[in-house]
Amino acid sequence: MPKKTPAVFQNLNSEKNGTTAEEVVVRLRDMIHNGELSPGDRLPPERDLAKLLGVSRPTLRAGIRSLATVGILQSRQGAGTFVAERHESPTLDSSALRMLSALHGFTSDEMFEARLALEMSIAGMAAERATSEQMTLMAEQITGMYASIDDPEQYLVHDMKFHQTIAAASNNRILTSLMNMVATILFDSRSKTVKRARDLKESAEQHHNIYRAMREHDAEAASRAMHDHLVETQKAQRLEEEEARALSSGLEP
Ligand SMILES: [Zn+2]
Repeated sequence: MPKKTPAVFQNLNSEKNGTTAEEVVVRLRDMIHNGELSPGDRLPPERDLAKLLGVSRPTLRAGIRSLATVGILQSRQGAGTFVAERHESPTLDSSALRMLSALHGFTSDEMFEARLALEMSIAGMAAERATSEQMTLMAEQITGMYASIDDPEQYLVHDMKFHQTIAAASNNRILTSLMNMVATILFDSRSKTVKRARDLKESAEQHHNIYRAMREHDAEAASRAMHDHLVETQKAQRLEEEEARALSSGLEP
């Protein structure tokens, strides 16, 4: 049987050679990598770009859609498609981790442990590096949490922003993007149960403890406070999930 050339090595310039949306993705990614396209750049008009890449317009559109889903491109209504701007809190697309998780059956304990390891380090770094603006942002999110104790969904938004601000304050964009990738999955699953949350005041206080340690620039205390908070968060989420399960199987009175 003749060996098949992997799609990625095929001539990308001809539709006849089987150019697919996948290859459009590879090609556009290369252009960003080589600096032919920079953050904030607008893509050329669809017709021109399709010609340049030697693909049909539907194929191009499909490729652009996949890059938009992972946050590399952004379509703006009426303005065109842009390469994402550099961001101080970058996020790696979490779909690869979700897929691995489904394939290998990662447990939620493993996911939590990964977040714990990342965020304890991040909190320590942020305590040493946070700017006064970042401290202000954290304080605002804590105020938002206290104000939304009776609105769990809103509370979770402030909670998530608080953690993202700390990640940005760590000034390590690799750890930040890894943390955001893992945390996004956990926040997504929490959003399904958070309306059952009971201890949001307690949770807001834990965030306040983290903030206090940051303000003192005490890396060890910040890391410890983050540890305690995440362990409590995991317990809370587990209780919410158990309650939701009990309810759905009709066990609750
Ligand atoms: Zn939190």
